[in-house]
Amino acid sequence: MSVVVEGLEKRFGSVVALRGVTLEARDGELLVVVGPSGCGKSTLLRCIAGLEAVDEGTISIRGRDVTRTRPAERNVSMVFQSYALFPHLTAGENIGFGLVVRETPKAEVRRRVADAVALVGIAHLVERRPYELSGGERQRVALARALVREPEAYLLDEPLSNLDAGTRVEMRTELRRLHRQVGATMVYVTHDQIEALTLADRVAVMHAGRVRQVGTPDEVYRRPADRIVAAFLGTPRMNFLAATDAGAFLAIPEGSELGVRPEHLRLDGDVPARVELVEVAGGDAYVHVTGGLVARVPADARPNEGDEVRLGVRGADAHFFDVATGERVGS
Ligand code: ATP
Repeated sequence: MSVVVEGLEKRFGSVVALRGVTLEARDGELLVVVGPSGCGKSTLLRCIAGLEAVDEGTISIRGRDVTRTRPAERNVSMVFQSYALFPHLTAGENIGFGLVVRETPKAEVRRRVADAVALVGIAHLVERRPYELSGGERQRVALARALVREPEAYLLDEPLSNLDAGTRVEMRTELRRLHRQVGATMVYVTHDQIEALTLADRVAVMHAGRVRQVGTPDEVYRRPADRIVAAFLGTPRMNFLAATDAGAFLAIPEGSELGVRPEHLRLDGDVPARVELVEVAGGDAYVHVTGGLVARVPADARPNEGDEVRLGVRGADAHFFDVATGERVGS
């Protein structure tokens, strides 16, 4: 039990940012909170850090209730999207700054900074100032600055979103490695589902101020708890078919609709359709067919626009959602 929030409510005037959020990041776990823009992810993290006061609910870190304590007393390190480095200090000085402020002995500052820069692979950059570093290097400095604190938990708010696609993927792998090595509890916020699924031990999917589902990346992707989670995770988005259209494929439970991921919409079934558009994305092709459905197939096995195909869905690949509540009713 490392970071536990229970029944968190947070309002900004008439905007309700958090609606009864209950969530736990277990000891040593990398928990990724993911959801669309405005769903309340950053607010949740800021409440845990103590940068926002909560209206209702409790926050505890390692069993200690910190709901009303000041940020400095919570012993958490936060890493932001904007690196928030001091421009006039070198990378090394930035990293050690928090320790110096706490009057940590000089030798210990040197040792801890050296350990942290070695962990994130920037020992050769410590003398440079932020303007002499690339975005990825700056983010590593920000990470090292969080690491030297040796806090009880790390809170990371979209730390990679300012980086180009290649550096992002590289840093993602680094972060995963770092997490394994340090074994620390991390709560990581992102709107990027790929980042969430690749990085997390467990994923919490948020929507409109609520946590919709918490589970391993496999669980949330393969068994989404409701239509919102199902639609949010996966590219292209899951196909949804109302009962009248779904009946051509499978018998579906009364009052439900059918959900089929694009990689599970087969082109060797019995339901006739015409290919309207084919998008090639490297090794995959997204095949748009009549009725607004999309199939994902290997690019070298793709049909041509205008082709007649026959669609199919295997029972094991079908998801059913209650039409009224959106909840999963089986698969
Ligand atoms: P993003 O991915 O865009 O950063 P988010 O999921 O992190 O989004 P939050 O920043 O937590 O979302 O915002 C949640 C809601 O609270 C939004 O509707 C936002 O407009 C509102 N909000 C956040 N901070 C404030 C504030 N200081 N004053 C007023 N409203 C705010």
